[in-house]
Amino acid sequence: MPFYDYRCEDCGHEFEEQRPVAARDEAECPGCRGRRVRRLVRAVARLSGAGGGPSGGASCSPVGRSGFG
Ligand SMILES: [Zn+2]
Repeated sequence: MPFYDYRCEDCGHEFEEQRPVAARDEAECPGCRGRRVRRLVRAVARLSGAGGGPSGGASCSPVGRSGFG
Protein backbone atom coordinates (compact mmCIF):
# COMPACT_ATOMS: atom_id res chain seq x y z
CA MET A 1 0.00 0.00 0.00
CA PRO A 2 1.26 3.47 -0.78
CA PHE A 3 1.79 6.21 1.77
CA TYR A 4 -0.23 9.37 1.67
CA ASP A 5 0.15 12.72 3.33
CA TYR A 6 -2.84 14.30 4.95
CA ARG A 7 -3.69 17.49 6.74
CA CYS A 8 -6.56 17.81 9.13
CA GLU A 9 -8.98 20.58 8.29
CA ASP A 10 -10.03 20.89 11.90
CA CYS A 11 -6.81 21.02 13.87
CA GLY A 12 -4.31 21.51 11.07
CA HIS A 13 -2.36 18.42 12.01
CA GLU A 14 -0.33 16.91 9.20
CA PHE A 15 0.31 13.22 9.19
CA GLU A 16 1.35 10.38 6.98
CA GLU A 17 -0.59 7.20 6.64
CA GLN A 18 -0.38 4.05 4.63
CA ARG A 19 -3.68 3.30 3.03
CA PRO A 20 -5.01 1.30 0.14
CA VAL A 21 -5.63 3.31 -2.99
CA ALA A 22 -9.34 2.61 -2.81
CA ALA A 23 -9.58 4.15 0.65
CA ARG A 24 -7.03 6.91 0.31
CA ASP A 25 -9.67 9.56 0.93
CA GLU A 26 -10.98 7.95 4.07
CA ALA A 27 -8.25 8.84 6.47
CA GLU A 28 -8.77 9.89 10.03
CA CYS A 29 -6.86 12.51 11.95
CA PRO A 30 -4.80 10.87 14.71
CA GLY A 31 -4.93 14.08 16.68
CA CYS A 32 -8.61 14.92 16.95
CA ARG A 33 -10.06 11.82 15.35
CA GLY A 34 -11.69 14.04 12.78
CA ARG A 35 -12.61 12.88 9.34
CA ARG A 36 -12.21 16.22 7.65
CA VAL A 37 -8.76 15.57 6.31
CA ARG A 38 -7.35 16.74 3.04
CA ARG A 39 -5.01 14.55 1.11
CA LEU A 40 -1.82 16.31 0.14
CA VAL A 41 0.02 15.75 -3.07
CA ARG A 42 3.36 14.28 -2.28
CA ALA A 43 6.35 15.39 -4.26
CA VAL A 44 7.82 12.16 -5.45
CA ALA A 45 10.63 13.57 -7.53
CA ARG A 46 13.06 14.62 -4.85
CA LEU A 47 16.15 13.12 -6.33
CA SER A 48 19.18 15.34 -6.48
CA GLY A 49 21.46 15.05 -9.41
CA ALA A 50 20.38 17.02 -12.45
CA GLY A 51 20.85 20.72 -12.03
CA GLY A 52 20.65 22.85 -8.97
CA GLY A 53 24.17 22.89 -7.73
CA PRO A 54 27.00 25.28 -7.10
CA SER A 55 28.40 25.93 -10.53
CA GLY A 56 32.08 26.88 -10.56
CA GLY A 57 33.29 30.23 -9.44
CA ALA A 58 35.42 31.94 -6.91
CA SER A 59 32.76 32.12 -4.29
CA CYS A 60 34.52 30.05 -1.72
CA SER A 61 38.11 31.23 -1.83
CA PRO A 62 39.81 31.05 1.51
CA VAL A 63 40.90 34.52 2.44
CA GLY A 64 43.75 35.11 4.80
CA ARG A 65 44.83 31.64 5.63
CA SER A 66 47.73 32.26 7.91
CA GLY A 67 49.58 29.67 9.85
CA PHE A 68 49.73 27.15 7.08
CA GLY A 69 53.05 25.45 7.30
ZN1 LIG B 1 -7.32 16.89 13.55
